[in-house]
Amino acid sequence: MRLAPSDVVVGGGGVIGAAAAWALARAGVAVTIVERRGLGQEASGSNVGLVTLFSGHSFDEPDPGPVYELTRMSADAYVALGDEVGVDIEYERCGGVVVAETPEKLAVIRRAYEGYRRHGIPVEWLDADGVRACEPAFHHPAVLGGAFCPLNGHVNPLALTRALALGATRRGARMLLGTEVQEIRTAGDRISAVVTSAGEIACGAVVNAAGAWARAVGAMTGLALPVEPQRGQIVLTEAAPRFIRRVVSGSEPSARQTRRGNVIIGSTVERVGFDTSVDADTMARFARGVLARYPALHGLRVIRSWAGLRPATPDHRPIIEMAAEPRGLCLAVGHSRRGICYAAGTGQLVMELVTGRAPSLPLDSFGSARFARAAGAA
Ligand SMILES: Cc1cc2nc3c(=O)[nH]c(=O)nc-3n(C[C@H](O)[C@H](O)[C@H](O)COP(=O)(O)OP(=O)(O)OC[C@H]3O[C@@H](n4cnc5c(N)ncnc54)[C@H](O)[C@@H]3O)c2cc1C
Repeated sequence: MRLAPSDVVVGGGGVIGAAAAWALARAGVAVTIVERRGLGQEASGSNVGLVTLFSGHSFDEPDPGPVYELTRMSADAYVALGDEVGVDIEYERCGGVVVAETPEKLAVIRRAYEGYRRHGIPVEWLDADGVRACEPAFHHPAVLGGAFCPLNGHVNPLALTRALALGATRRGARMLLGTEVQEIRTAGDRISAVVTSAGEIACGAVVNAAGAWARAVGAMTGLALPVEPQRGQIVLTEAAPRFIRRVVSGSEPSARQTRRGNVIIGSTVERVGFDTSVDADTMARFARGVLARYPALHGLRVIRSWAGLRPATPDHRPIIEMAAEPRGLCLAVGHSRRGICYAAGTGQLVMELVTGRAPSLPLDSFGSARFARAAGAA
């Protein structure tokens, strides 16, 4: 069966596919999202929802560069997105503190803090008492200090994914849920169509936004993408009156309290293939760890646990580029631990790549050639 043609087909209805569709639709491009399950049913609906401008990624990039800029673009877009589509995505720039429990870690945070300060990004240095004053709900005797960034925050990731998709459909995007991308066709060296479980869609471009399954979708065009699933387990408590105000990172497990009052506790990073089971040992470890850090959690009931699959690359940075071949294939994959932080910015870059505009950010750090360069250097 043939379906109506589309300029662009986006394979995957997670936060990255939804953000790409939103940006493309806003630019006047006819776009179709093809998602084999439902919107945000995989990693994008299973994560913690942190949007951090200063955190672990800053240690690798202490002079803020493309990774910081990609986060900044996304976070700024989230401020406007809720109003534009009329959906409360629960985005709060509540500020967050990155803590150290060893002198080595403290030195790494200090280096990033100094780099950020040099570039005029607001970060404050805290000693152990300062951390305590910054987030009174959190306490651990091993904490030596850390840095506070008022730009860090959190969002409801499923609401974010839905808001992006809703924004896209309001601008004319078509959404095919419960529909699988099965084959990508080419004519000569160009993309010509996508074969889905609902029929064939003639198109000029495809965006691979298939998350942990990006490698399988890449293989449909002969690409071997370095993306693998990494499992993260999470526990959710019942709702309680708000007692955690800030986002605390660097002390595991982490806990964030949602707008409704539920506490999300997580998460692991495990290489176990596509297994999304949750195990009792991890739950027990989470319980011990979080009670030692957030005493007010004592007595709260656990109501759910789950696991999601991060689409991980070897350096945990995404791949955002037009593939060398076939022409018309755009990659928006491998967002690893920070797909919520990077989504709207990724969508913008995808739109610019697909429509041939100048990209808002230098794309070298997000090109797949970096893996060959790293292998050559090694
Ligand atoms: C436990 C955990 C905690 C995390 N915490 C954070 C956090 O605090 N902050 C942050 O920024 N990030 C976090 N992340 C990472 C973030 O969730 C991911 O980087 C992001 O959701 C990836 O989005 P995606 O759209 O690429 O992938 P996904 O959300 O997995 O979406 C890919 C979609 O593609 C679909 N698909 C696959 N194959 C096909 C096909 N053949 N045809 C059609 N559809 C297909 C899938 O069904 C899926 O819906 C966390 C992740 C986990 C698991």
